[in-house]
Amino acid sequence: MAIDDAAIPAGSITHEARQYEKLEDNFVHCSVCAHRCRIKDGGHGICGVRVNRGGVLYAATYGKISAEAVDPIEKKPLFHYLPGTLSYSLGSVGCNFQCEHCQNWHISRATLTDGLLRSLSPEEGVAKARGTGCRSISWTYNEPTIWHEYPREMGTLARAKGLGTVYVTNGYITEEALADIAPMLEAFRVDLKAFTEEFYRKVCRAKLQPVLDASVKARELGMHIETVTLVIPGLNDSMEEMEGLIRWVVENLGPSTPMHFSRFHPDYRMQDRDATPVATLEKISRRARELGIRFPYLGNVPGHPLENTTCPKCGALLIERTGYQTRIRGLKGDRCGECGETIEIRLATGT
Ligand code: SF4
Repeated sequence: MAIDDAAIPAGSITHEARQYEKLEDNFVHCSVCAHRCRIKDGGHGICGVRVNRGGVLYAATYGKISAEAVDPIEKKPLFHYLPGTLSYSLGSVGCNFQCEHCQNWHISRATLTDGLLRSLSPEEGVAKARGTGCRSISWTYNEPTIWHEYPREMGTLARAKGLGTVYVTNGYITEEALADIAPMLEAFRVDLKAFTEEFYRKVCRAKLQPVLDASVKARELGMHIETVTLVIPGLNDSMEEMEGLIRWVVENLGPSTPMHFSRFHPDYRMQDRDATPVATLEKISRRARELGIRFPYLGNVPGHPLENTTCPKCGALLIERTGYQTRIRGLKGDRCGECGETIEIRLATGT
């Protein structure tokens, strides 16, 4: 459906996109995400926020936010990147996935014309992050990939000021777009929503393989990676599927990649099943450890001991988490204070 330009906030269609190609008859070809939309003049991509006007592709949410908050970095969740610090967190509107169980549907399904957007320049974003005592900026709440130019510019400024940078992403980004943001992006917190093409096709209207490819590429580019899998009863919770996913992570991202297995709660269009039993998550976490993952975690189960970081060698408690309260207990630098095992973690200076 075409967008009514008159209803879009003034000044939205001014920032030309990166990562696209001009085609004949004013068509354009966007190569930011793996959908690789071919967009006609007057149209927009699947994400709803990259629009073609007169054969030029515009990033219509450049400098436009729908949400901002100062969050504990653990809320992303990131447990091995600047633990115990705050992250200045921003969201906009739109998404390149259409997940039936989306927990942020009020912004991910919102459009340019829904009146949710307000302006925030990259410079203002960095100043706010620093002014609120944050150690990083996270582009989160909705998919940052489709925002590309804005986080790229803000992130470049942020890094120059010593701030960390985080994508909370579905990982549906192309190799060329990932290379374009790599100089500014430190942490790639990626959803591995399932381990079947069928799930991605039916539930997200997307494909699994590009997510796996992007995760491998992000690792090659030196980004810190943590994965999150929302375990949904009856859809992706078979031990066979989870074992396949875990083995893939061990082989392709490495055993020190923190994996978060999160509890599903009914949301948006997926109200037809119960929350995930905690026992299912505990079983998956145990299996992950058996298969070599050094740091498997549970998510959405506040106060559970599997939110803590323990030494994979001697079992000593290293970081204690209760909800979003984080206490670093048994670490000496990046080593276990008990046995000296190296712990793959990026601590904030002064921690
Ligand atoms: S970001 Fe993805 S969904 Fe949006 S226009 Fe580009 S290819 Fe299409």
